[in-house]
Amino acid sequence: MLNTLDELEKKAMLELPGATSEDALNELRTMYLGRKGVLTQMLRQISTVTAEERPLFGKRSNEIKESLSHAIYEALERLKSSRKDDVLLKETIDVTLPGRTVGRGHLHPVTRVSQEICRIFARMGFNVVEGPEVETDYYNFEALNIPKDHPARDMQDTFYVEENIVLRTHTSPVQIRTMEKMKPPVRILSPGRVYRPDSDVSHTPMFHQIEGLMVDRGVTFGDLKGTLTYFLKQIFGADIFLRFRPSFFPFTEPSAEVDIQCVMCGGKGCRVCGQSGWLEILGSGMVDPAVFENVGYDPEEVTGFAFGLGVERIAMLKYGISDIRLFFENDWRFLEQF
Ligand SMILES: [Zn+2]
Repeated sequence: MLNTLDELEKKAMLELPGATSEDALNELRTMYLGRKGVLTQMLRQISTVTAEERPLFGKRSNEIKESLSHAIYEALERLKSSRKDDVLLKETIDVTLPGRTVGRGHLHPVTRVSQEICRIFARMGFNVVEGPEVETDYYNFEALNIPKDHPARDMQDTFYVEENIVLRTHTSPVQIRTMEKMKPPVRILSPGRVYRPDSDVSHTPMFHQIEGLMVDRGVTFGDLKGTLTYFLKQIFGADIFLRFRPSFFPFTEPSAEVDIQCVMCGGKGCRVCGQSGWLEILGSGMVDPAVFENVGYDPEEVTGFAFGLGVERIAMLKYGISDIRLFFENDWRFLEQF
């Protein structure tokens, strides 16, 4: 019987190197050491062994059991660690490769142009003042000399929230709110969103406007011209040509629209300027005495000028953009160009 045990051990040790997978090794363990395994079967036959041989038989059985299970355990461990080596070999990290950069955001082009305009006027002593986007009919129209049923209301299509509540159509109400609160001199700039029901390549229902107001004793049309000329030369370059064209606004008298020579064609005439060589850039004028009376200023004592411009329009001309809607589609391919 002892010889049989020795043979069993030899056989198992010979089979071991052939078991190259986890499954094969587990199978080998079950075959020799399992409850119905060969070694267990042999131990059951201990009663057939002679009394002298019995202790040695028991001892050898345990030795074989131990050495075999140890050998199988070691083989399994080797298998695991070699698999880890394989993974490390396949998934190498090249530390000399450049790292992946994280993209950096920036301000929206409309915000940038708006801030640039505010900075230019700040250098001339204008303060930025903001006001509500939902306005009363009084501040948006009546106080600005546009009574109900006045034909001038047709110039500005309007979103009505209620009968006397509107989404402001311009930032001019901020001028009224400011003048009601403070005495002259006034020098303010009011940037912000405004709303008109319009939508095409040059109009969006929401856009940004910046309006300016200066009121003091002895402010003249010459001050208006000088201020706006300085501003437009700062934005479009010192060699830009301007012209002041008579116009009409209910809240200014006299009124002037300001054109710049077309930045696309240099004045020769193109599609952007409608072959005229000029681009309308802002509206302006001397504050109408009726507006001063509405806020309690004495028009015999003070004069002033006001102007308003569309931020998107300036940004489109500055960057050569042909469709205003691009600003609000938030297409990353468009925005990342600025
Ligand atoms: Zn042109």
